[in-house]
Amino acid sequence: MFDKIVIANRGEIALRILRACRELGIKVVAVHSEADRDLKHVRLADESVCIGPAPSIDSYLNIPAIISAAEVTDAEAIHPGYGFLSENADFSEKVKQSGFVFIGPNPDTIRMMGDKISAKNAMIAAGIPCVPGNNDPLSDNPKKNVKLAQEIGYPVIIKAAGGGGGRGMRTVHTEAALLNAINMTKAEAATAFNNSTVYMEKFLENPRHIEFQVLADAHGNAIHLGERDCSMQRRHQKVVEEAPAPGITDEQRQQMGERCAKACIDIGYLGAGTFEFLYEKGEFFFIEMNTRVQVEHPVTEMITGFDIVKEQLRIAAGMPLSIKQDEVKFTGHAIECRLNAEDPKTFMPCPGTIEQFHMPGGPGIRCETHIYNGYRVPPYYDSMIGKLIAHGEDRTSAIARMNTALSEIIIDGIKTNIPLQQDIMNDAAFAAGGQNIHYLEKKLGIV
Ligand code: ADP
Repeated sequence: MFDKIVIANRGEIALRILRACRELGIKVVAVHSEADRDLKHVRLADESVCIGPAPSIDSYLNIPAIISAAEVTDAEAIHPGYGFLSENADFSEKVKQSGFVFIGPNPDTIRMMGDKISAKNAMIAAGIPCVPGNNDPLSDNPKKNVKLAQEIGYPVIIKAAGGGGGRGMRTVHTEAALLNAINMTKAEAATAFNNSTVYMEKFLENPRHIEFQVLADAHGNAIHLGERDCSMQRRHQKVVEEAPAPGITDEQRQQMGERCAKACIDIGYLGAGTFEFLYEKGEFFFIEMNTRVQVEHPVTEMITGFDIVKEQLRIAAGMPLSIKQDEVKFTGHAIECRLNAEDPKTFMPCPGTIEQFHMPGGPGIRCETHIYNGYRVPPYYDSMIGKLIAHGEDRTSAIARMNTALSEIIIDGIKTNIPLQQDIMNDAAFAAGGQNIHYLEKKLGIV
């Protein structure tokens, strides 16, 4: 096992990684921006290094500064968390070239999954079902593109191969709008992602978002930890996640989970990862693979009793997976509510000082947050300030526990989305389960 690692992230996930390191006896180096000296994990870390000014581009995205921090502290590995540099193949390559271990997959895997066309083709080769489409860069030939859309059938979606974060895609409902949509998406993709390649696929109108958690080691073993339902979204951002996904049968879980685990072996995957699918009319369609730990990993941990972050560290240190597929057992139901520092009605970020914080508790409640009394939420980063997770014997009991926890939690001084989360937890359609990705926006009157 490592003696010392650098956590190249901030906020709740940095604290989560620090906790896993403590359990494994690994020393922690916290790297932070000038605005983040008071982060909880920075105070708890064995060593800390300031890597630059507040803007992420100068600090959490500053590759040379992060690698120098690993050098001066004599650390062995770097955990990228999620967001920031976690899916940056150049970063993982430079970490490796500088003699450190990148806690995640190989640069080539990250690169392949970062390009949606190559990811889709790798998945098709591995037997994973994908959204019907051309799976090649679109040509400049208008006739060919019109014919292709006719074959796929409207509505279609034009997507940037290098896109991410829900940007770089355009839905097309009629032939009249097709060519213009292709040109606009190409132009946008060139500016936003420095890659004008686009492709076309069927637009699924009312899907759910269901994803499978996988883990693969360097010894040819891969397992899945079941699925999560993340259909409660606003602007492609997940708001509530849960596991298992309502209505998914044991057979579906086993079949898709095993396919994902097998795909990991086929592509030489290493570490924790997630296969994201759109699920419609009983069928799964792959959309992308996240090559890192995800925000919503705790719901899987709660129903499996398995620590995904500790396993990431073990795998990166070259150890074999600590459990076999038939040892993975699912117990009860878990729900996660993301807690954001934002206005619950306008969704405007609301940074500021936390005047009072009271953490909820009780059976099955887990609170992952870095905030504390007097902590100042800076305006420079994502507005998520924590996550509340409730586990119960079944979905109804998990919702009841979440409701109790949401009524207990006190965060004074800033606005949060707690009222929105309470509204969702008391929503009859949410209670019924299985809503699609548009449900929350419709409820909010956005669409
Ligand atoms: P990103 O990398 O930007 O997150 P994804 O490919 O994961 O892009 O897609 C993000 C979201 O866009 C999906 O969760 C879904 O809501 C929507 N989307 C993407 N492809 C399709 C499709 N073929 N049909 C319907 N919606 C889609």
